[in-house]
Amino acid sequence: MLFKIPRLYDSHTHFLATGEFSAGLHLGFMKKADDLALIDLKNPAYYRSDWIVGFGWNETDWPEVPHKSILDKYFPDRPVFFPRMDGHRSWVNTRALQLLGMTSDTGLLLEKEHLQAWDKLPEFTKDQQRRHVFSACRTYNKAGFTHVRDMSCTPSLWNLLVEMSEKNELTLAIEENVTTHEMDDFEGMLDFCQRAKKSETPLLRMKGIKLFYDGSLGSETAFLSKPYNGKAEGPRGRTLWPLEQVEEIMMRTWQAGLEFSVHTIGDEAAHQIVQSARKISAQGFVGRLNLEHAQMLRPETIQMMKPLHVRCHMQPCHWLSDKVWLEQKLGDLYKYVFPWEALKVAQIPISFGCDSPVEPPSFWRNKVALDESVHAKIRKFTGDLALAHSHPDATFANSFTVIEEGVVQEINFNGKSLLLE
Ligand SMILES: [Zn+2]
Repeated sequence: MLFKIPRLYDSHTHFLATGEFSAGLHLGFMKKADDLALIDLKNPAYYRSDWIVGFGWNETDWPEVPHKSILDKYFPDRPVFFPRMDGHRSWVNTRALQLLGMTSDTGLLLEKEHLQAWDKLPEFTKDQQRRHVFSACRTYNKAGFTHVRDMSCTPSLWNLLVEMSEKNELTLAIEENVTTHEMDDFEGMLDFCQRAKKSETPLLRMKGIKLFYDGSLGSETAFLSKPYNGKAEGPRGRTLWPLEQVEEIMMRTWQAGLEFSVHTIGDEAAHQIVQSARKISAQGFVGRLNLEHAQMLRPETIQMMKPLHVRCHMQPCHWLSDKVWLEQKLGDLYKYVFPWEALKVAQIPISFGCDSPVEPPSFWRNKVALDESVHAKIRKFTGDLALAHSHPDATFANSFTVIEEGVVQEINFNGKSLLLE
């Protein structure tokens, strides 16, 4: 099967992390905690200042449970920060906790603490960042992408991208969003976004503010309307913000003419956010609401989206990783999972993406997930896959990509053919 897709778009990515992890330390090789001994500490790509940073451990088959004492044994002096493969927790040592000003008995930081810790890491040097930007561009281009929407901008990344864009060094059209983790940092971020808008280039756009409203299904922190694992009583996950604060941020972001994006995975998280958006709109504030992931939506939530300016950013490839436990974990709520067809029928715009580096950027894996999930009682997507994977603005960097049976045959970016190695 051959696809010719205009502006092939990955609508939810972590841009710098994608470049960083293609050059940096992957921990996916670890079969046990003692494999830490195999890490080559001389590789400068593994460092942020004097911190050792690695990504992607998965302890499922390890004989032991990760604990800070194990890291302390191998790294007694240097701070260590290792996010898990799902991107929702990190494993740190005692030295790191000291520098972060945090306490933890286990050295495992979850969700909000994990994200706050990540924000406090020393920045990469400009040289390292440049290398990561090139490496990210190459990674997306190789997968055929010409357009990405980044969820993790910082002022130093923005300034660098403006500079590289002006020197014609970018081979991607990039949209940027900034993630806020607490009310205290929101003000500064809003200000930064508004200033950034003034230095946009033809390949670089500042879109707005993002926050995490709930967690992930894998760690049972996505916020559901019923308890996990089909139980009558028990945890339903959690939310990371008081709703009043979310509403204030939504209102102020829209007032500033920016987009507001919310990480919502559980059906109840999405429902509450859509309800809040209705409330804010009724007060006369109008703006774009992006629901990130939108992995579970109830029909009434979708109906409530209709008068709003909502776009759902979905990653079919997450189904490939989650399918083994999805039905068991969700019980009755399984019927609401991956509602791409229900959104299509309700005419709510959707965009597809891959959430790299959590999943590799790949149009084809999303196609495979859409095809195969039909056999797991997920309603068949009858929409136009190429359209849902295409940047909606035809005036943003004229580009196209040809993909045949999973192989990128041609990629034309901004009028120029990109050579593929
Ligand atoms: Zn993400």
